[in-house]
Amino acid sequence: MRIVFIGPPGAGKGTQAEKIIAKYATAHLSTGDMLRAARDAQTEVGVKAEKYMSSGQLVPDDILIAMISERLQQADCQAGYLLDGFPRTIAQAEALDEMLEQNNTPLDVVLELQVPEDELFKRLAGRGRADDKPEVIRERLVAYTKQTSPLLEYYSGKGLLQSVNGLGSVEEIFAQIETQLDCYK
Ligand code: AMP
Repeated sequence: MRIVFIGPPGAGKGTQAEKIIAKYATAHLSTGDMLRAARDAQTEVGVKAEKYMSSGQLVPDDILIAMISERLQQADCQAGYLLDGFPRTIAQAEALDEMLEQNNTPLDVVLELQVPEDELFKRLAGRGRADDKPEVIRERLVAYTKQTSPLLEYYSGKGLLQSVNGLGSVEEIFAQIETQLDCYK
């Protein structure tokens, strides 16, 4: 299965992503994790990305598109993957479509995890990551609303969007995700 996982920061994507890859045995492509690893290793990409990440802004599209394009060619992606945190802009989504069209490997489904904004703020403020300071959280939520939420319409127009309510216990939420994903197995 080829899955895109979309949701605002703090929606619980990371927790659910772990459960999805455990059950459906797909590669987990988290661009946030990839960028944090690059930053910690002080690679050229990591150094460039750091100033955007620490202020809650999106890292430029060309960096992300090159990163994912390379990653999708690796062997563990051939049987399917969960894209977690990518695409986050329309330009990224269009670039992804182009890559997938060239290889004749269309997406199966785009899963959206829905959580209201006041709940996101509460969760993020309790998490303690470096980019979880209140002013940075606000920026990340603004980036989601402005740049990423247009993807919901983009993918619903293609008939790919399935939305899941992200309020409730981890198990309750995962049960809804399973119901959706079991249609595509
Ligand atoms: P995440 O762990 O997915 O919340 O990502 C952490 C940070 O990495 C984000 O706030 C962005 O600065 C950056 N980032 C991750 N994925 C992307 C993406 N697809 N496009 C642009 N920036 C990204």
